Amino acid sequence: MTKPLVQLLEQQTFTDEEAARLLSLTAPDECRQLQERAYALTTELLGENVYLRGLIEISNICTANCRYCGIRKNNHAVERYTLSEETILACAELAARSGYGSIAIQAGERRDPKWIEWIADLLKKIHARTVNDALPSGLGITLSLGEQTYDVYRYWAEASGNPNGLRYLLRIESSNPTLFRSLHCTPGKNEKVLEHRYRALEDLRRAGYQVGTGVMIGLPGQTIEDLVADIRTFERIDADMIGMGPYITSNGADMVSEGMLPKAQLMQLSLNMIAVTRLMMRNVNIAAATALETLEPNGRIKGILHGCNVIMPNITPQQTRSSYQLYDNKAGCEVGAESNVLVENNIVEIAHRRLGLNQLGSSLRWHTR
Ligand code: SAM
Repeated sequence: MTKPLVQLLEQQTFTDEEAARLLSLTAPDECRQLQERAYALTTELLGENVYLRGLIEISNICTANCRYCGIRKNNHAVERYTLSEETILACAELAARSGYGSIAIQAGERRDPKWIEWIADLLKKIHARTVNDALPSGLGITLSLGEQTYDVYRYWAEASGNPNGLRYLLRIESSNPTLFRSLHCTPGKNEKVLEHRYRALEDLRRAGYQVGTGVMIGLPGQTIEDLVADIRTFERIDADMIGMGPYITSNGADMVSEGMLPKAQLMQLSLNMIAVTRLMMRNVNIAAATALETLEPNGRIKGILHGCNVIMPNITPQQTRSSYQLYDNKAGCEVGAESNVLVENNIVEIAHRRLGLNQLGSSLRWHTR
């Protein structure tokens, strides 16, 4: 006989079949029960704070050709940019002054020595300029700069002034090896190997980082069992933070013809994935992705209501935002949509949470490891 949902939701561990059942929920009353349990567990384990990571998209130059991504190397329609060091430092200082507590630095993937050196130098300067009374060890920093070597990760950690607390977000995109290959395969060339991604995540752990990973949800050909395997992989990696969001087609990418799930279905599946990840990973940080907001105007609020405790407002200067179109109609690209603490405070208050201002908001899993 099938277990009553209320009983299932109270469990601390789940079989693959139970996780698949929760991920597949569609009946509004059942989805609400899952949402309420994930929200209550987040409050119980992590409290009411939602932490901010001011997202700075520092460059859209990329040497990779991921088939889903609008800034992949072969999309020649994109105007390429790299923000100047001064612009990035100004964004970081503004974030520190406004109480963000942390920033996330994201770019396309590059491994040339000049870039590696430039990032190290940038990290040193951000640290020097953002130490203040409220942030005695400077801003928290999450890097999202793709696959690098152990030595590079270590080098950047030391440059950051916070060698044992730097964070890195490197999504596995999908733990299904066949799907991963199809997402990264251009004719005659296998661009990425899932095993390399796992090694990079291990290297990040050894190099002392708080390790973040995640997947895209609703990829063409992805099954519920794949999503269960994704959560099992987060467990195996013992991730400190999870950043995942819906897959949205991009006209500049190579997968438009494969389509995407209908919006309402994709939204519910993404929210179920956030909630089930909260139930299974418990004390990790989970970020409400911008892609949720692109699907639905209040997407991030729904993310928080389903167990997210981090939001990543885009603080990239307005003029370059439209050149960082990972997918179509990316939220935050419309003119005038400047991020600020008041806007974020509204979002969080609607979800009956409060902003963790001037706090690093490191993952509890990492703190208690
Ligand atoms: N280069 C770094 C990397 O690969 O980790 C960081 C930048 S990359 C553009 C950041 C993330 O954007 C990827 O991990 C991917 O999951 C997400 N992304 C790219 N295209 C997407 C799409 N069409 N829909 C949803 N997310 C997408």
